[in-house]
Amino acid sequence: MKIDKVPTPAYVVDEQALEKNLEILQEVKDAAGCRILLAQKCFSMFAEYPLISKYLDGATASGLYEARLGHEEMRGENHVFSPAYRPEEIEEIASICDHVIFNSFAQLRRFGARVREIQQQRGVRQGIGLRINPECSTQEHGIYDPCAPGSRLGVTAEAFARAVAGEPELFEQLDGLHFHTLCEQDSDALAETFRAVEERFGRWLEADSVHWLNMGGGHHITRKDYDRQLLIDLVKSVKDKYAVEVYLEPGEAVALNAGYLVAEVMDIVENHGVKTLILDASAACHMPDVLEMPYRPPLKEAGEAGEKAYTYRLSSCTCLAGDIIGDYSFDREIMPGDRLYFEDMAIYSMVKNNTFNGMALPAIWKMDKAGVCTLVKQFGYEDFKGRLS
Ligand SMILES: *Cc1c(COP(=O)(O)O)cnc(C)c1O
Repeated sequence: MKIDKVPTPAYVVDEQALEKNLEILQEVKDAAGCRILLAQKCFSMFAEYPLISKYLDGATASGLYEARLGHEEMRGENHVFSPAYRPEEIEEIASICDHVIFNSFAQLRRFGARVREIQQQRGVRQGIGLRINPECSTQEHGIYDPCAPGSRLGVTAEAFARAVAGEPELFEQLDGLHFHTLCEQDSDALAETFRAVEERFGRWLEADSVHWLNMGGGHHITRKDYDRQLLIDLVKSVKDKYAVEVYLEPGEAVALNAGYLVAEVMDIVENHGVKTLILDASAACHMPDVLEMPYRPPLKEAGEAGEKAYTYRLSSCTCLAGDIIGDYSFDREIMPGDRLYFEDMAIYSMVKNNTFNGMALPAIWKMDKAGVCTLVKQFGYEDFKGRLS
């Protein structure tokens, strides 16, 4: 079946585009000599993990469930970072994760020794890390800035120095450091951030006991205008200077521009001259970042409002008045039954969707190089009912 016949609503992942991204990431890995992991919180379509693990070194997780998914479905390394772990889950985490990254010295003090013990039984070495906070904001989106004053994410240099001065054995428990501060950014922001890391944490990075540095995600490596040479040069210089293994864990860059959300126009209503298309897809349910970030998703064959002859507001079947995807224009008049293709919908879409208002979850399809679409998974009423009681 071709994409124009796929029942709506549907996420259709473009495997050719996905593989193109993976090839670029492999080139970066080879040129820089670093390891790259998939950040599953962005894209957890595990049907594609066999393809992804041909190119990347493994996966990273935000907690136990994603760590289990990575362990079960992805070959290679399995990492985890969470702001806090529960005592009842730490043994399972240690038994399936090669790197366990803590967010505070208190969590390290509480769980570090147990994690070390379990990892050693598995033959895993150098698997304990701490997230640091470079306090270097390089972007505008407040909700995506872990470096803002008061942030809970990562230990500041001042807190690090204080903890280690009082308890030097805490530092001895660490095998690596982790920072994650970027969001959809170019390598110049990484270079700026790394300068802050060096300035604030350089003396710890130099220690022989620190074997790796994880530079997090938010690197838009596969975007057309991303400066990959700067990233490669930076990683190489960090490896040389500090004798560390470097990890990157992008989410978006893996599946950037590699999927569609296909929707159908169900009705058209007009109020005060605004013509609204009622779609069977919703921003609130199926692409929540459109409202959260917020942003206007790219739509195939459509322009800005007023740019082409026919302008419409795109909205959905939910009760939320503000469930508006954006205003778009088209060359021709839109009719009920027409299909729309939202672009760049592989990332932060299926991992974040919900059934608010009892909206149906879009089915998940994959599209091969020849444009042939295959159903991966379908959802129904039982999926809605199953998470309620
Ligand atoms: C979100 C996140 C990532 C992935 O970020 P992208 O913006 O999708 O590349 C990687 N590491 C950590 C710790 C994260 O929180």
